[in-house]
Amino acid sequence: MEQRHQPIDALEESTIQQLASQLRGALIRTSDADYEQARQVYNAMIDKHPALIVRCVDVADVIAAVNFAREHELTLAIRGGGHNGPGQGTCDDGLVIDLSEMKGIRVDPVARTARVEGGCTWGDVDHATHPFGLATPSGFISTTGVGGLTLGGGIGYLSRTLGLTIDNLLGVDMVLADGSFVTANVQENADLFWAVRGGGGNFGVVTSFLFQLHPISMVYGGPMLWSLDEAANVLRYWRDYILTAPDEVNGWFGFVTVPPAPPFPEQFHLQKMCAIVWCSTAPQEEAEKLLQPIRTNIPPAVDFAGPIPWPVLQTLFDALYPKGLQWYWKADFFTDLSDKAIDLHVKYGAQLPTMHSTMHLYPINGVVHRVGANETAFSFREANFSEVVVGVDPDPANNERMIQWARDYWMALHPYSAGGGYVNMMMDEGTDNVKAAYRDNYERLAQIKAKYDPNNLFHVNQNIKPAS
Ligand SMILES: Cc1cc2nc3c(=O)[nH]c(=O)nc-3n(C[C@H](O)[C@H](O)[C@H](O)COP(=O)(O)OP(=O)(O)OC[C@H]3O[C@@H](n4cnc5c(N)ncnc54)[C@H](O)[C@@H]3O)c2cc1C
Repeated sequence: MEQRHQPIDALEESTIQQLASQLRGALIRTSDADYEQARQVYNAMIDKHPALIVRCVDVADVIAAVNFAREHELTLAIRGGGHNGPGQGTCDDGLVIDLSEMKGIRVDPVARTARVEGGCTWGDVDHATHPFGLATPSGFISTTGVGGLTLGGGIGYLSRTLGLTIDNLLGVDMVLADGSFVTANVQENADLFWAVRGGGGNFGVVTSFLFQLHPISMVYGGPMLWSLDEAANVLRYWRDYILTAPDEVNGWFGFVTVPPAPPFPEQFHLQKMCAIVWCSTAPQEEAEKLLQPIRTNIPPAVDFAGPIPWPVLQTLFDALYPKGLQWYWKADFFTDLSDKAIDLHVKYGAQLPTMHSTMHLYPINGVVHRVGANETAFSFREANFSEVVVGVDPDPANNERMIQWARDYWMALHPYSAGGGYVNMMMDEGTDNVKAAYRDNYERLAQIKAKYDPNNLFHVNQNIKPAS
């Protein structure tokens, strides 16, 4: 039976005090001075007012908060890094488990693993692993939470080389809906481990992740930019190149507006351009050889690709996208990128509605394809490209315009897509789109959901309904 949701004012003050007495972390309430700051998430379009925010500092706090929400039938949201587009790290009226104080990381340089607590960002992970010359595949920006990104799959600069983030996940520690604590990996609770590798926050609160690390320290990467006149040529060239390139090469394509600041040459400031942002783990000389053909055939107007420390590449776009902007997301997977689809990209890419708005195509072939579509919950293993169209701007007055652009762009390309999108880059789009994202993995996810969370306590997410 689905969990009912009680208004918080039905609770006695003494009941709330009882929760506070069980916690080492702070219990933040609407009357507290830090409430306004504490309730905000990364996307300023989300304006939710939870009644209680529990800043958990350890597993015991998480258990207390889960039990409290379940026993008192409160809406429960879990916040990792708070980056989620539709704001699924918070809720109205209910209780938020905010993991942002749980930032412990233990690197084992011999086993090449890292145990990472649920409130870490990827910047925290890079900070901890880089001194050992090690890293694990994450995303394209360092401020994103490990929690949400990993549980949805994890597409990033190293996907072609090392697979998705979940392909490098060795295990999780979790608090389940009944308040019990479990470990899930290939040996223990293997069904749960299958489900959390792509199935999002549907199955419980992950208090820590165990990742495989790899010897990655310096990479060869950074952006190349071309004028929009070259966009169709660049897209075609990039498509053909990336479909057959060695696994050591990653490079996503995007339409961007050049920020009006150094290091970009002034003549390009605020110009709409197209870009490829590279990341190669090949040794420098080899990486240069791998990128030489594009430099020769379609010389970029701006070329910043070169040797770069991994954590620096990861933080290149952090300052451009601070917390507090308005964000609207649309996503799809593609197996092909036909010339007709490329023409449509060029048409809508030229219409970026605001300086921060963008469209990215991430290549997800290479090692991502070497895991089967049913081996983890992440279904689209045969797709070659993950598309995201995002309207972004500081000013809510531009929302209508940028949302319309993102929808129009997505609609125009959708007929060419593989039929579903990446759950981490969607808004709250309803059950049909969640099903489309998981395809034939959905039914198995629903069965596992019914086993571990039969009353759908964890429903503030791209929700998988428990099988009846
Ligand atoms: C600027 C920006 C860049 C991004 N870049 C990438 C990228 O390169 N690659 C990519 O794959 N994605 C990327 N994303 C998308 C990102 O993966 C999702 O927004 C993801 O949901 C963020 O995770 P979070 O922990 O920060 O978010 P939150 O809002 O905290 O949580 C998101 C969802 O995950 C659940 N969750 C989070 N932590 C836990 C946990 N420990 N246990 C159980 N459930 C949990 C929450 O309940 C919620 O449903 C980006 C997002 C932004 C805003």
